[in-house]
Amino acid sequence: MKITNVRTICLKYNYKKPIMDALSTIDSRQCVIVLIDTDEKITGIGEAAYFGGPTISTKTIIEKELKPELIGEDPFKVEKIWKKLFSTSYYHGRRGLVLTCIGAIDVALWDIIGKYCHLPVYKLCGGYRDKILAYASGGYYQEGKNIQELVKEVQGYIEKGFKAIKMKVGRNKNLPLSPLEVITHNQGTISLEEDLERVRAVRKAIGKDIYLMVDANNSWTPSIAIQMGREFEKLGIYWLEEPVQTDDIRGSKRIAEALDLQIAGYESEQGLFGYRELIVRQAVDIVQPDPTWVGGFSEAKKIAHLAQAYGMLCIPHSYNSAVSVKINSHFIASISNSQMIELDRNFNPLRDELLLDPIEIDPEGYLHLSEKPGFGVELNENTLKKYAVED
Ligand SMILES: [Mg+2]
Repeated sequence: MKITNVRTICLKYNYKKPIMDALSTIDSRQCVIVLIDTDEKITGIGEAAYFGGPTISTKTIIEKELKPELIGEDPFKVEKIWKKLFSTSYYHGRRGLVLTCIGAIDVALWDIIGKYCHLPVYKLCGGYRDKILAYASGGYYQEGKNIQELVKEVQGYIEKGFKAIKMKVGRNKNLPLSPLEVITHNQGTISLEEDLERVRAVRKAIGKDIYLMVDANNSWTPSIAIQMGREFEKLGIYWLEEPVQTDDIRGSKRIAEALDLQIAGYESEQGLFGYRELIVRQAVDIVQPDPTWVGGFSEAKKIAHLAQAYGMLCIPHSYNSAVSVKINSHFIASISNSQMIELDRNFNPLRDELLLDPIEIDPEGYLHLSEKPGFGVELNENTLKKYAVED
């Protein structure tokens, strides 16, 4: 089998009212879908994680730089192709958008292999579980959203069957070293005490038997994270996510040592080499490599296995379109040291309308793996047309 073409599709949905985490104001949902065609009439589908900047940057790297390296290659030779792409882009790649693009291609190759073998990828690559506990990822900030609305939101997740919920914390601009002080699109900020009130109100509303996690999106210093972490421990928080900046490995280690609370991170780290430092230096308790972001399904598996050797859980970030949720479900189902899948609950038609067979959870809060070949992704052509953008 030979690769004959590589294509990208950029999609965008604009929010009428932005949502916010500790660091970002999110005014749209965007994604870049990658399609790899072969001479066997099998097309592999992947996704490159989108987190800011114009999607044409991603499209250009994939179509202008990586595609010429792929034409004529055998898609089964995943390790060889990965090394070829990584090595040829080395001097301006290694991390960042280039590695994300390599990862999108790696993912699409695994989709081709699964389709060729008539097997779902998770069974090809480990087959540890057929269903995964889903956690509702929400509790964002929004202009005018008060604690009562936040509580109503999380109660809605419980009614739908979720047994685990994650909410945002950390949008506290008036703290030392806050990244918000220089971000020009910055709107809204609250105090640490108000953040604690939000978490206390959610815990009270959902009871103590539901997993509750908090995500600070890289916004705190180690000492603030430790002070907040001590309060979170009293509330039975299951993990504190990305308390400090991704590169502050010493700071994260200090937090992990100071608290019994699990530290999860860092979705914004990439590659096996990047995660090696977090793992070996024990700066986290839970690693969160998203295959569409860290450099592919292959790279995410290697990270999960290294984490396993250190007794760590691997519970990946999963936020983008329905394609990335599918990819993450196969990743989690293929490894033994995982536990849950992140299901973003913010309104997103690129998640809910993108597949012919939309992602759903059962009444107990589990997502079931598809037995369709590859990642089981069947795109809805009408949705692609409706949200397609050039850049
Ligand atoms: Mg996160």
